[in-house]
Amino acid sequence: MKIRFLGTSHGLPEANRFCSSTMIEVNGAVYVIDAGGPLLDMLLKAGKTPLDVKGIFITHAHADHMAGLYGFLDTVNWYYKQASVKIFMPEQKVCDLLSELLEFVGNRPVDISRICWEIVREGMFYEDENIKITAFPTAHLKKLGRPSYGYCVEAEGKKVVFTGDLSQWLEEDDYPKAATSQETDMVICEFAHFTPEQIEVYMAKTKTKQFWFNHVGLSKKFDRFEAIREMEKKFSYPVHIACDGDEIEI
Ligand SMILES: [Zn+2]
Ligand SMILES: [Zn+2]
Repeated sequence: MKIRFLGTSHGLPEANRFCSSTMIEVNGAVYVIDAGGPLLDMLLKAGKTPLDVKGIFITHAHADHMAGLYGFLDTVNWYYKQASVKIFMPEQKVCDLLSELLEFVGNRPVDISRICWEIVREGMFYEDENIKITAFPTAHLKKLGRPSYGYCVEAEGKKVVFTGDLSQWLEEDDYPKAATSQETDMVICEFAHFTPEQIEVYMAKTKTKQFWFNHVGLSKKFDRFEAIREMEKKFSYPVHIACDGDEIEI
């Protein structure tokens, strides 16, 4: 499978980083984890169109993980009429609000035979001929009483763990067990809500072939990029910083 980082920024976009979105390609089919940046534009830049996209999997309903959905779906609704896409969202209310917005602004009904909303459930919730996706809850929105997830993606005999956004300071101990209880091929971890010391405790228990940080936040107290560079020799696996456009074949 091929992983392409479409957007790697945290809560704020930056001049050279769109907000979080990652494309997975298996046998020519495209799956997208989060859609924080302008999804359609980013896909076109990667040589893809909505016709290639089978599923979009949102980890949680924060704008930096889903703001690009609206433009993508509006275009699918009125222009890419051969496209058919499933959108997995943790909360029904967000599906309803976005559908209403699409209908109102587009002045046409949403074609629900092609734009299909589904709610993410804990455990294995998506499987097709290419890929299997399992959701595990994180505590990122626990204080608000709302759900958030990380995902384990399996395809072609490989396993990739996406942490999604985690709890502040990792105080809820929600770093994914999927990354520590088994050997994986790749871990893609956020780095906006905790210190290097806090994440290193979990990295020491992680069994993977490569570890990538995305969603790297800015901190007034320390340089997160510098902190990652200092981690590079501490672990048995390589540690990388994801940049927009990076593509990895695993
Ligand atoms: Zn975020
Ligand atoms: Zn968030």
